[in-house]
Amino acid sequence: MKFAIARPPVPSLSIAGRSERFPVNRIFCVGRNYAAHAREMGGDERDPPFFFQKSASALVDASAPVSIAYPPKTADFHHEVELVVALGHGGFEISQDQAGRLIYGYAVGLDMTRRDVQKALRDKGRPWELGKSFHQSAPIGAIAPAMTVENLESGTIFLDINGASRQRAALDNMIWSVAETIAFLSQYEPLQPGDLIMTGTPEGVGPVIAGDILHGHVDGLPPIQVSIV
Ligand code: MN
Repeated sequence: MKFAIARPPVPSLSIAGRSERFPVNRIFCVGRNYAAHAREMGGDERDPPFFFQKSASALVDASAPVSIAYPPKTADFHHEVELVVALGHGGFEISQDQAGRLIYGYAVGLDMTRRDVQKALRDKGRPWELGKSFHQSAPIGAIAPAMTVENLESGTIFLDINGASRQRAALDNMIWSVAETIAFLSQYEPLQPGDLIMTGTPEGVGPVIAGDILHGHVDGLPPIQVSIV
């Protein structure tokens, strides 16, 4: 008996102003890239950056208002608004000066987190996987091509929920800049086209509940609206 193997979907994101889509390879995430958030998580702001990944299948295209389901197996589902860098070219052992040449564009994203699960795993010294990488845990807006974005890292990132401010910071508060992050990560792993880097969240992370409407914003990038259902 023969049967066909279904083709898995290729995760992709919208590109602002273009009909073509951006195919997504891996999603790297930086932990604790803003000092005040490192402190609220009980860490030391002088720690070097560290990374985890979300599966590309966790993506949600948030180029238009979108809803995500409150996930199972958590009672503490948290928002983390982040600047997302999309790589259009790969590279290994890239210098900070060369890092910009890998960048296709930027987007606003949410690193949605089962905080209770993440902390329980962390406290046992186990991988964060089920706290961080799960269905619909990475809503990301349309990618603005880098050539259309000016002075990005002198702008502001913020998240409002139901109209109330929850996270707000200057992007130059990032401990590790975009170029430093790309250079650092590329010492460990050959970066590839389609890789995304979620660059970490500022202070103010907290829980969401069904019915909440989240607005994520980075100056100069398409904003996102994500509802929890
Ligand atoms: Mn994060």
